[in-house]
Amino acid sequence: MAQPIQALGPLHFWRPPSRKPLDMLAPSHLTHNPPLRQHGGREKALDTLHRFLHARSIGYRGGMSSPLSAPDACSRLSAYLAHGCISMREVVQQTRAHMDQLPPQAARHRAGLTAFLSRLHWHCHFIQKLESEPAIEWRNMHRGYDGLREQDFNLAHFEALKAARTGWPMVDACVTMLRETGWLNFRMRAMLVSVAAYPLWLHWRPVGEWLATQFLDYEPGIHWSQLQMQSGTTGINTTRVYNPVKQAQDHDPHGRFVRHWLPHMRQVPDTWLFEPWLMPQHLQTQLSLRDHLAAPLVDLATATRESKQRLHDRRQQPEVRAGKKAVIEQHASRKPLHPRKKTTAPQVTVQQQLGFDF
Ligand SMILES: Cc1cc2nc3c(=O)[nH]c(=O)nc-3n(C[C@H](O)[C@H](O)[C@H](O)COP(=O)(O)OP(=O)(O)OC[C@H]3O[C@@H](n4cnc5c(N)ncnc54)[C@H](O)[C@@H]3O)c2cc1C
Repeated sequence: MAQPIQALGPLHFWRPPSRKPLDMLAPSHLTHNPPLRQHGGREKALDTLHRFLHARSIGYRGGMSSPLSAPDACSRLSAYLAHGCISMREVVQQTRAHMDQLPPQAARHRAGLTAFLSRLHWHCHFIQKLESEPAIEWRNMHRGYDGLREQDFNLAHFEALKAARTGWPMVDACVTMLRETGWLNFRMRAMLVSVAAYPLWLHWRPVGEWLATQFLDYEPGIHWSQLQMQSGTTGINTTRVYNPVKQAQDHDPHGRFVRHWLPHMRQVPDTWLFEPWLMPQHLQTQLSLRDHLAAPLVDLATATRESKQRLHDRRQQPEVRAGKKAVIEQHASRKPLHPRKKTTAPQVTVQQQLGFDF
């Protein structure tokens, strides 16, 4: 049943969380120790960077989207950067030095490292956003979206999401992988937030608090901006809604990922891989799946359509349209679209912040 978000209690929703002196901070934000997490320390960080620069980055661009290839294709430096095992400066300098040594024919390798460098820029860009406006950690970046989801928090949906029981195999497999490893690639993080924000209509703040306890690389500047971008409350980014069934078809077509993380899915024949709840009851009984297969929490198509409409209606309100300018002024990227041409004023680009795919 839906309830106001304030009823959730300990969430510091309407006021800033208290700042503690550094030495009082708990050693980790994690609520558990993911058994398959990356190991910490400077040596591991340097080794991870070395392997990425010399070999793994060749497959970076093609491999970062699928949760199957991403653990190897991505740099895996986020946790080391967040915990200070390695500095941004040395990662950038080593990357540039390595690129200078690449032979001209190493085009794919160079393209991978160029894409990597742009993400390192985003890292700093998003941390600066939070420095510029710390309040985006707990309230909507565009205040015109206040009240959009706050009164409708469905605790049962939230608990099912956290327990990997949404019924959508790709979502449940991602939650399981996150719990076991403390890491997910960008696209799957975005999909989790999108499912929470649109079909499940959950406010980003409790979802973000939960995810912050799961990510080994929790970095508030990146995290809260992403939560708001993927939930549509920045008011300046294009609405992106990830369909979890389509994501599975595109990025895990043979079910290797979901079958790895959800053992019961190994029993599910390919015909019902993407929508196992449609499997005839007698077959579910025969394969001992009845206790494991959860029907989706909502009808995906209907719930997504309704949520997009609610967001669209809010976006069309004159005061919300008027408020967009102030958000662009404070948060949009400013960089010349054509660096060599002289421009009188910086051109503001919003789309570039979301252009993560190739
Ligand atoms: C909802 C959501 C929450 C996120 N929370 C975090 C977080 O708490 N901490 C975090 O480091 N990243 C976060 N990200 C961004 C991204 O998913 C991770 O940086 C990336 O998956 C980490 O893996 P990697 O180091 O192999 O990344 P790579 O793809 O190899 O990227 C290299 C580095 O660039 C930076 N980076 C990559 N993508 C982004 C991005 N979109 N925005 C800003 N910087 C980026 C990170 O420092 C990363 O380590 C979040 C993304 C989403 C959608």
